[in-house]
Amino acid sequence: MHLAPSNLIGTWIALGLAFGSFVTVLVARVPGRQGLVSFSHCPSCNHALAAKDNIPVIGFLLLRGKCRYCKAKISLRYPLIELLTLACVMMPVLKFEGWWFVLAWVNFIVLGIALALIDLEHHRLPDRLTVPLFVICLFLLTGDAIANDHLHRLTIAIIGAFALSFFYLFVNVASRGGMGMGDVKLALTIGLLTGYISFATVLAASFGAFLLGSVIGIGMLVVSSATRKTAVPFGPFMIIGTFLTPWTTQYVVSILNLGH
Ligand SMILES: [Zn+2]
Repeated sequence: MHLAPSNLIGTWIALGLAFGSFVTVLVARVPGRQGLVSFSHCPSCNHALAAKDNIPVIGFLLLRGKCRYCKAKISLRYPLIELLTLACVMMPVLKFEGWWFVLAWVNFIVLGIALALIDLEHHRLPDRLTVPLFVICLFLLTGDAIANDHLHRLTIAIIGAFALSFFYLFVNVASRGGMGMGDVKLALTIGLLTGYISFATVLAASFGAFLLGSVIGIGMLVVSSATRKTAVPFGPFMIIGTFLTPWTTQYVVSILNLGH
């Protein structure tokens, strides 16, 4: 029986919300180097939460946004992150084919959302997420390459990974650390994942990141008192740029007249 990822929408909705719940755990615990496997506690009264209160989105709605024990307000960010993760996970499920490849992208989206949120808040991309992100993507893409005889694509993906991370390393040195080493490590995964599709996709991810970075960076200079020295984390732009490649790659192909 051939069951494609896109045949299991109901399962993906449940999984997307569960992954979203995992993202909120990563965002809360990775920056402080806390353990990931322990029961959730109310941040206000520290009471251990009941299993049913931990159900993504539904738990929040059943509790009407308040802790069962101390009645403290539960931040709206938890259900919002869960819904955002669910929405983003549906992209590879609906756009891509093959379990290995879809799972590689789901991995990128789950850890990528956690990385983007941590980078926005703490201005860093912890190795504890960027390293597993790369290792899991490499494992899943290797699985796809072997299962579907796509070894040539895996070769281009590995070239893409090195090319893109060397580019970010160059920007890191040229900007004297303005672009962090976390961005260089993240670029390794982005080059791998997009290179597995095509070189044009690697370019589309990078153009997207720099375009978003300049527009939002200039916007921040205009509307706020931000100066050119204000550090704007670049990780979120890299992750959004990569996420948008199914829509942006065609423009890069037509602008550069690739494939003709
Ligand atoms: Zn409480």
